[in-house]
Amino acid sequence: MKHITRKATRHTSQNEGLIFEKSSAGKAAWKLPPLDVPEVDTSKLLGEWERKDLGNMPEVSEIEIIRHFTRLSTWNYAIDLGMYPLGSCTMKYNPRVNEVVARLEGLANGHPYQPQRVSQGALRIMKMLSDCLTEITGMDAITLQPTAGAHGELTGLVMVRAYQQSKGNPRKKILIPDSAHGTNPATAATVGYAVENLKSNAKGMVDVAALGAQMNEDVAALMLTNPNTLGIFEQEIHKIADILHAKGGLLYMDGANMNALVGKVRPGDFGVDLMHLNLHKTFSTPHGGGGPGSGPVAVKQFLEPLLPTPVVVVKSDGTLSFDYDRPQSVGRVRAFYGNFGMFVRALAYILANGPDGLRETTEDAVLNANYIRKGIEGAYDLPYATATMHEVVFSDRTQAKRGVKTMDIAKRLIDYGFHPYTTAFPLIVPGALMIEPTESESKEELDLFIDAMKSIAAEVEEDPETVLSAPHSTRVSRLDETAAARKPVLRWKPKV
Ligand SMILES: *Cc1c(COP(=O)(O)O)cnc(C)c1O
Repeated sequence: MKHITRKATRHTSQNEGLIFEKSSAGKAAWKLPPLDVPEVDTSKLLGEWERKDLGNMPEVSEIEIIRHFTRLSTWNYAIDLGMYPLGSCTMKYNPRVNEVVARLEGLANGHPYQPQRVSQGALRIMKMLSDCLTEITGMDAITLQPTAGAHGELTGLVMVRAYQQSKGNPRKKILIPDSAHGTNPATAATVGYAVENLKSNAKGMVDVAALGAQMNEDVAALMLTNPNTLGIFEQEIHKIADILHAKGGLLYMDGANMNALVGKVRPGDFGVDLMHLNLHKTFSTPHGGGGPGSGPVAVKQFLEPLLPTPVVVVKSDGTLSFDYDRPQSVGRVRAFYGNFGMFVRALAYILANGPDGLRETTEDAVLNANYIRKGIEGAYDLPYATATMHEVVFSDRTQAKRGVKTMDIAKRLIDYGFHPYTTAFPLIVPGALMIEPTESESKEELDLFIDAMKSIAAEVEEDPETVLSAPHSTRVSRLDETAAARKPVLRWKPKV
């Protein structure tokens, strides 16, 4: 086994510290020339807008502030530093051409209140992206308004309820497989539905017989992720759709895993009635840090009248406009039109790849996941042997016998220079290691990852303490993750 020496870069020079603590009176990054006009009292100019509570700002030189922020950036991990195998998140590389296009002045500075007559370019981008996404999904119409996957789910289920209501009964339940992402049951509950759990079979797929038994006229829809969160394609998807439709239910697809399908198969062709996409996953627009996302919802023709307003339409003279006059619409789900910058990036990505490029991307993503599966199969327990699509889920069963859990292995991975994989789900695999490499990674990077995983498995046998006390290479080691989420400290305060 090749020994890994690569470590995440960490600067630990004596230069470290907080910028406030480096402040010394009179230093400045930039000095204005002496005044050649009479001085004015700026507090009068700012009036009530002056933030007196800010107190003294740090006084530092230009190089101090540059070094400060550059150093901080090296304490974090990013896809631009290395592989980010966070399963279910499709943390692929965001090609720089996306950023170049999103920064074009006319696009970056467009204003949502700009008249439609001078927004034709922006409208065309929305129309082109909509057309590309409906073609890729095999659906008939789409809204670009939702700004996250979970927001798309919410929009979708609000449409499901409106549709069922129009048939005379909103119905009571949403069926959700036990392998689902946590947002699915949360969304169903938010919309006011009761969630009914659907058991998976031994192959890690929906148990069609169980679905048949649970389906009745109280069920509004099934929320299905395909491929599911085990990275397994639902092979009986046609049967699943037929069972739903026979009793008036709808098939909602969580399309967060479309990186396994784009250019190969289309949900619209296998019975899906409506679905969301995560542009910030499949279509490479950046995500993480809670930044702007985009979760468009694509629907079949019969649901089109329900889409949120406004929708982009082509007028008889060929110009584009927003149509607000849609009596059956569920209304707005977001101010203005959604995260426009994400539309630009996703369209740039789609056009730069073209149909063949997108198909190849899908093939490479699946190939990479299978390469990892083969590479570490002997070292970790694989609970479901069914064919792997874009991600693969192992369990910590072997390592747990030595007292080492998936979270410990994930922490140790940081020392080898990788972002951890997903540890929290799917819930049907206790101690899950959920790994999604995406197509971004080269064979060399995948080999390094496989070596790292095998080295950690060997360490668990020889020296479990090293793994249990990891990470050893970071600024801080194990944190109270619950407190960090629930009681975050977002502001520096002076020590007293
Ligand atoms: C990421 C993800 C979601 C939620 O998407 P957000 O954009 O994070 O709200 C839903 N379902 C699955 C399967 C996902 O992977």
